[in-house]
Amino acid sequence: MNIIIFGPPGAGKGTQSKMICEKENLLHISTGDILRNEINSDSELGNNIKSLIDQGDLVSDEITLDVIRTFIKKNEGDHSGFLFDGFPRTIQQADLLSDLFKNMNINLSAAVLIDVEQSVLINRIINRKEVEGRDDDDEVILASRLKIYYDQTAPLIDYYKNLKLLKWVDGVGEINVVNQRINSILKVL
Ligand code: AMP
Repeated sequence: MNIIIFGPPGAGKGTQSKMICEKENLLHISTGDILRNEINSDSELGNNIKSLIDQGDLVSDEITLDVIRTFIKKNEGDHSGFLFDGFPRTIQQADLLSDLFKNMNINLSAAVLIDVEQSVLINRIINRKEVEGRDDDDEVILASRLKIYYDQTAPLIDYYKNLKLLKWVDGVGEINVVNQRINSILKVL
């Protein structure tokens, strides 16, 4: 099984992705985590990425795809498939993912949208800043991340609907309840 998880910032993509990967033995490819690791390594690339992430902007497709390829190579092993968390974020990236899958000779099983309304997101992000201390979890930067989501990522809903791959999940509720909603979708794939 190969799936993507998408949704607005604060929807719970990271938390749910970790739970799904453990249950289904999938390789968790979180572009946000991989890019943050690059920043922590203090490389030149990391410094360039940091200024973009800190402003809430997207990193270039070239860099994002490059870190994904490297991550997959490094983590080759006994997985039942891939879970992409935070990629694709644009229609162009969805086309790039489709090319990547073709090259790897695999198919996308589903695109899971974790949907959460804006007022809930803002509260969640404010709480997450206190727990995780992410510089981009700031109210002003969040506004720009939300705008990018609705302008550039939300069009993926129709994109995957047209491909009959879209699975909509209500992301409001307890972590375990949302997880059960996702599990019941994945069970019948
Ligand atoms: P996330 O952890 O998914 O919320 O991502 C945090 C930040 O990493 C985003 O606001 C972007 O700056 C960057 N990022 C993550 N995934 C991508 C992607 N697929 N394309 C471009 N930038 C990304």
